[in-house]
Amino acid sequence: MAPSVLRHLPSVTELLESGPLKPLVERVSHSVVVEGVRSFLDDYRQEVDPASDPKDVPPLAQMAERIARRILLGERSSLKPVINATGILLHTGLGRAPLAEAAIDEMVTMARDYASLELDLRSGQRANRFDAVEGLLCEITGAEAAAVVNNNAGATMLTLAALGGGREVIVSRGQLVEIGGSYRLPDVMQTSGAVLREVGTTNKTRPEDYESAVCDKTAALMRVHPSNFLVVGFTADVELEQLIRIGKKHDLPVIDDIGSGALFDLSAYGIRDEPIARQSIAAGSDVVLFSGDKLMGGPQSGIIVGKRKQIDRIVKHPMARALRVDKITLAALGATLRLLRDPQQAAHQVPLLQLLATPLDNLRLRAEGIATQLQLTAGIAKSEAVEEEAFLGGGSVPTQSIKTWCVAIDLDSESLNNFHTRLRTGTPSLVGRVQKGQLLIDLRSVPPRQDEQIVLAVSRAATSTSGTD
Ligand SMILES: *Cc1c(COP(=O)(O)O)cnc(C)c1O
Repeated sequence: MAPSVLRHLPSVTELLESGPLKPLVERVSHSVVVEGVRSFLDDYRQEVDPASDPKDVPPLAQMAERIARRILLGERSSLKPVINATGILLHTGLGRAPLAEAAIDEMVTMARDYASLELDLRSGQRANRFDAVEGLLCEITGAEAAAVVNNNAGATMLTLAALGGGREVIVSRGQLVEIGGSYRLPDVMQTSGAVLREVGTTNKTRPEDYESAVCDKTAALMRVHPSNFLVVGFTADVELEQLIRIGKKHDLPVIDDIGSGALFDLSAYGIRDEPIARQSIAAGSDVVLFSGDKLMGGPQSGIIVGKRKQIDRIVKHPMARALRVDKITLAALGATLRLLRDPQQAAHQVPLLQLLATPLDNLRLRAEGIATQLQLTAGIAKSEAVEEEAFLGGGSVPTQSIKTWCVAIDLDSESLNNFHTRLRTGTPSLVGRVQKGQLLIDLRSVPPRQDEQIVLAVSRAATSTSGTD
């Protein structure tokens, strides 16, 4: 005999016929709604005290409302667009670089239809997947050949597997980097099957260190750009040119992981001392590796450029298939590269470069405008424009800050963390940075079209002080 309260629950059919759920069948699907109702009832049966008063069972309409909300929440993707007000332009947690309009258009077009990914339309024969971008990459970097994989971690692993598998790759101890917890060069090397041969010390490595490590087990020499740290003081480093000389002498390929992937000099954007792909190729590197979604401002990808002989070995390795990119990535990458061919054009059309180049005065005026609008909002004690420092992020250029303006917000009473949570979980979602008891909305990483949304999102979060659900 079932306890009485459970017999007072509405049936699945009754709930499906109810006001809130009936129209939902059209919007999502019959099976999704039925499943939602069943799982709600199951949970309810588990949680309710069977001995409780049947009068405590919520009315049908209320129960249906709760089920509808739960179904809609489940339907919403947890991947949401975010207003990045952190000031970190290449925030890995927020997907790094936003893409240029031309890249987005190209992705949409290629997504909708079939594409000539591996078919040469003239001959009807099978073509190379990289044809769409190889010419551009070679033109921009001066390399003989190019390939693209999922990201730079993949590019590094594949290159090491193809050129160094089972043999030794020599790297300076000063370059055994960690880029975000899951990328550590020694681990990547080990997984690739190549054997890491460390030389020198953390602060000093000399040409003789490489020379004396070369033996019949050596497969390659590798340089890694220490993207996210600086070694200063009593230091010595081997110049790329010297490394290449050693490589030539022993007939060993030199692999250069330049990391962020600047394609031209970015000092006009305040970014200095980043290795440039073309310079590494010109110096004689056999293989140069970099990310497509850091300083290039393109889609997530790992780019491999270099000598034809080495690139051929790399693309023929079985791991290449496991790391290969799809037509959508290639479409976005191709469009981004076409913009980057011309630095002038890139300045106006690649969002990362536009954000970097926004004049300080423009940021100040916008911060002042937003601050004034928020000043009158209930719950906000103070909002003012403040000059601050932004960072590139994405493991790039950690020591060079970028000047910026922020809106600094002080609250009346509520905890700043609750407020920030409400901003993050709102629609649109807004992520700022909490610093010294204030919430900073950093405009360096915000395109002007989002200013108005910021005002709306912050005022909404400030006036709805209750729970975040
Ligand atoms: C960022 C970085 C990587 C990893 O690149 P992903 O594209 O994030 O996989 C590897 N090496 C260096 C030097 C880097 O800066």
